Amino acid sequence: MSVSNGLTIVSQQGQKRNTFFKSPIERIFAMSVTRELFDEVMVPNYAPSKVIPVRGSGSRIWDQNDNEYIDFAGGIAVNCLGHCHPKLVSALTEQGQKLWHLSNTMTNEPALRLAKKMTDATFADKVYFANSGGEANEAALKLARRWALDNHGEEKSHIISFKQGFHGRTFFTVTVGGQPAYSDGFGPKPADVFHAEYNNLDSLKALMSDKTCAVVMEPLQGEGGIISPTADFVKGVRDLCDQHSALLVFDEVQTGVGRLGHLYAYMDLGVTPDILTTAKALGGGFPIGAMITTTDIAKHLKIGTHGSTYGGNPLACAVAEAAFDTVNDAQVLEGVKQKSKLFMDALNEINEKYDIFEEIRGKGLLIGAALKETYKGRAKEILLAAMDEGAMTLIAGANVVRFAPSLVIPDEDIKQGMALFEKAVAKIAG
Ligand SMILES: *Cc1c(COP(=O)(O)O)cnc(C)c1O
Repeated sequence: MSVSNGLTIVSQQGQKRNTFFKSPIERIFAMSVTRELFDEVMVPNYAPSKVIPVRGSGSRIWDQNDNEYIDFAGGIAVNCLGHCHPKLVSALTEQGQKLWHLSNTMTNEPALRLAKKMTDATFADKVYFANSGGEANEAALKLARRWALDNHGEEKSHIISFKQGFHGRTFFTVTVGGQPAYSDGFGPKPADVFHAEYNNLDSLKALMSDKTCAVVMEPLQGEGGIISPTADFVKGVRDLCDQHSALLVFDEVQTGVGRLGHLYAYMDLGVTPDILTTAKALGGGFPIGAMITTTDIAKHLKIGTHGSTYGGNPLACAVAEAAFDTVNDAQVLEGVKQKSKLFMDALNEINEKYDIFEEIRGKGLLIGAALKETYKGRAKEILLAAMDEGAMTLIAGANVVRFAPSLVIPDEDIKQGMALFEKAVAKIAG
């Protein structure tokens, strides 16, 4: 490595890359950006991998040392069109030279266009923009409580959600989420939140009453371990909500925008929610979230009842509009189903050789490989081994390896990435 007015980085493959810095100070800082710096300057709530990626293209990522990775993680189900998709880059740069932010004292063209497209494509008539999934859910929960208060009075305040569910990290959303590890230890929680068993209608029935304001569910539990609902369960939840005049809220933050092979998961389940939240893939990697609902329910969020400084900013909405347009396309959605099969087939083949997975499950391009009892608790170990081989994966709890790649990942990348993943599995189970 030679240092002059720049830094020549020689990759393990022997390729040379020059990075030029404006000043000696900049060079010193650039040179000391290491994983160790994380432990020095960051709040210790994350445990990031030792790899620091510096660029990506499609479903490939390169780290500081120019090592290449195939990305099956997709920024946790966010980068629905891979990295730096040309349509998103041009939406971002075009809007970036026009107008970034106004606040909600004014509306803007990208937000209105995106909202129109979202309402045209779904059951909803109205959109509220936020910056993340947690914020979209926070809005949904507050709206449900307002709707119930206005229509039925103070007593109708119960919110029922499901064990193992995940809805975000604000205090209201962790409380509604079904994982005490995320909600405990922060003092008194928002009241009147109850948890039923997913895929167990009797357990929900036992909690439902005329005090039920809303039932909140993921139409496939993501963080909770890639658990699909049965068709009967989903229909039963809808019926119970109708019987008790409660709202049905679908958290489609992870399942939405093509992830399961339909624009939204509800479209393939034969039920329609009253409120739906969407984020992650909505911005294709740019932060944005939204809550969508009907006119009749939306009217309870009157002027001043809720808001966000950044929500619906032109920059985020312009990128999301490009992502939404690109994904909401019959060919792309059909491609998700085909690519899903390639993943499932490859994982089943690996499993035939190594007998490591109990079940390979999920839908579309949200796939979980659940470990056998013998390998219990070792999902993270597999993720790390796969990273060493050059394949990026995710986990969903301690026992499930999760795949949430780009919806347009080339078939060749699936094949190559799966070969790398197999090497990692061989290290653990070989
Ligand atoms: C990721 C996720 C959230 C939280 O989204 P953030 O953008 O991290 O706030 C909420 N619900 C579900 C189902 C998710 O997968």
